Amino acid sequence: MNKKPKRWQAFLPDPLVAIQVNSASFTDEGVDTVLDNVQKLAGVNTLYLVAMSWARGTGGRQQPNLPLPDHGVQEYDLDWQGGLDVRRNDLHYRDDTVAPPNRSAEYGDDWDLFEQVVPKARDRSMSLIAWIAESVRADRIFQTPGFWRTLEVDAWGRPTRVPCYRNPSYVNWYAQVIEDWAHNAPVDGIVFAPERPGPLNILMESPSDPNDLDVHGPFGGAISCFCPHCCNAAERKGINIISAQRGYRELIEWNIEVSRGRIPLDGAFVTFWRLLLENPEILAWQRLWSDGQEQFMKSIYGVAKAVRPDIQVGWHLYHNYSLSPFCRASSDYGRWAEFSDFLKLTVYNATGGPRLNSWVKRSCQALFADTSPEKIYPVLMDMMGFDEGPLEGLISEGLSSGYVEREIHRAVKGVAGACAIDAGVDVDIPNNFGVEKEKRSTRDQVREAVKAAFRGGARGVVLSRKYSEMTLDNLAGAGDALGELGLKDES
Ligand SMILES: [Zn+2]
Repeated sequence: MNKKPKRWQAFLPDPLVAIQVNSASFTDEGVDTVLDNVQKLAGVNTLYLVAMSWARGTGGRQQPNLPLPDHGVQEYDLDWQGGLDVRRNDLHYRDDTVAPPNRSAEYGDDWDLFEQVVPKARDRSMSLIAWIAESVRADRIFQTPGFWRTLEVDAWGRPTRVPCYRNPSYVNWYAQVIEDWAHNAPVDGIVFAPERPGPLNILMESPSDPNDLDVHGPFGGAISCFCPHCCNAAERKGINIISAQRGYRELIEWNIEVSRGRIPLDGAFVTFWRLLLENPEILAWQRLWSDGQEQFMKSIYGVAKAVRPDIQVGWHLYHNYSLSPFCRASSDYGRWAEFSDFLKLTVYNATGGPRLNSWVKRSCQALFADTSPEKIYPVLMDMMGFDEGPLEGLISEGLSSGYVEREIHRAVKGVAGACAIDAGVDVDIPNNFGVEKEKRSTRDQVREAVKAAFRGGARGVVLSRKYSEMTLDNLAGAGDALGELGLKDES
């Protein structure tokens, strides 16, 4: 493996073998124990330090009610809420419209993840990437004083419970953290995890939940955004705002009807397409939303680079960019490479099976409501370049390692060398679908996924989602793969 040229100069190894790990593991098990385990078992040379998360997927211990792994404190942290796990350097927090992100309360006032872990990781020649989970669904962020100023606005003009990527207060909220870390954090890179599909994508691929209809509208109000910042952007592009609002209101009604099995006279798909013909602004608004997200990402990238040109900035791209044709169309890896040093692709294959199964079924309660999951699934496989077994088997079998290789290969071709591609490999990620006998990770699955990622041309792998939910034996599958590939650093 390559060695770092200088202690604090940003440097990511190639091949990169990273693991996502949070404060709970370090405080529960001790920094040295965690580093020993990930280095010896999985050949890890880079840590994704979860420095800011309100999302259980990356923060805290194992998700309550799921089996605890074979390490760490054998108890659930039921009160975990999350926040910033490093000290704020207040000089950098100058926006007075929204209070800065809260310090997490779980690990004591003095806890600073960077301070505790980075020196010991450097002694082992590890590289470090600071992780931010956007966590837009977490209750805790809405307790931030002034956070209401950041909110998206729905098609009826009501603030929602989702922040807007174009809102300057929201951009500033993160830009301040990025500025702080670029100045002060002893890390080589920053990775940000936005996990949002945009309004049209939601309505095409998901049924609305009747429980959401009371306070914030369907999908928690995420069919948006019609805030003044987004409307100004629409005006500059010549998009008719009134027509877009009307179109989305009608599309929400369409979704509610087909979600409940009440198929319109001309069919779900034909009626959907008619709504697009009558309100082409629907499509324009999805693009407007995606443009807002991309501008937000560019802002983060630019702020980090302005302060520290050598810091590496990348993105965690969530599973929908791989599993959904609509989200896939919204994410042009080649274009994203213009504001990315690396992309971490979610190509989780064990949990990918139940997830794809669920996606197909949900889409058949929305855009594909005229047909059945069993009939649309083969068509989707052809459209998406998947080569997997039967739909029901996905739950117990997961996706193949071939899926990992093909998706990585597609991304590597897409960015054409303009940025690095790292593969997110799943180790013991639960599915939460209440499905009995669903595919769980095994040591072999992890080993084959890591090998497939490198066969596909990945620069590296990121063992996901968090060390605190992984079993040590399955983690060792990564070490097995590196050994077979001749990449394990035995020094
Ligand atoms: Zn907006």
